[in-house]
Amino acid sequence: MSLIRLHVADDLLQDGTVLLGPQQTHYLANVMRARTSDEVLLFNGRDGEWLSSIAEIGRRGASLRLLGRYRPQAKGPDLDLVVALVKRARLEIIVEKAAELGARRVRPVVTERTNLSTANLDRLRAIAVEASEQTGRLDVPQILEVAPLGEVLAEWPGDRRLLFCDEAGEAAPALEALRGVEGALWGILIGPEGGFAPEERVAARAVTGAVPVSLGPRILRADTAAIAALSLWQASLGDWRGSAPN
Ligand code: SAH
Repeated sequence: MSLIRLHVADDLLQDGTVLLGPQQTHYLANVMRARTSDEVLLFNGRDGEWLSSIAEIGRRGASLRLLGRYRPQAKGPDLDLVVALVKRARLEIIVEKAAELGARRVRPVVTERTNLSTANLDRLRAIAVEASEQTGRLDVPQILEVAPLGEVLAEWPGDRRLLFCDEAGEAAPALEALRGVEGALWGILIGPEGGFAPEERVAARAVTGAVPVSLGPRILRADTAAIAALSLWQASLGDWRGSAPN
């Protein structure tokens, strides 16, 4: 069985000790049935992955002794997922899958046809942590504050490309559009269930470095579209390839 992995905020260093709060202790003791001297892997997004051993475990807290570094810190590609706010359950799936598929940041946006204006960011962050623990990555995707799409597009950095998933059917097929395109910094843009408004499509296409793409002849739900686009990008430009640049 693979070792339990936990994300912690503490610095991880040789001979250090990490104290867990009630929630992670409950997970260790009651969900995973861990006992004193069991080994647990820890990561914090900065110091790599560390092997630790449970020194003490009680009802409300546990202390873990750091034994040594298991893997050096590594990051996946610099890939943002910009996604319109969709219903809670779908947004949670999108965040979980974005973490599994190696996005570095998720930016929820409000668009013209978005009915929602807020999201429970704490809950989304907890989902991102849990997915990262489970998937073996050494960082946790950052969940950025909700922002209006217009603002995000207006401030889009000139050196970051934008894979614009345009359901309107005029864009080139994704793999064809991505062939030969260079760039280390990327974003993927997914619209809401109601689709993009015409002026939003114009604004997305006007971004320097925008690559409008089609995800095939069928209209996909936002969560499916996000998973499909992340997978396509990882396979053609990201760390699913044999020799990843990042
Ligand atoms: N209501 C819209 C569909 C929106 S689907 C309509 O009927 O046209 C939600 C988002 O998923 C879209 O804004 C787009 O970003 C993405 N998407 C879904 N299907 C797609 C496709 N075939 N090609 C490209 N993007 C797609």
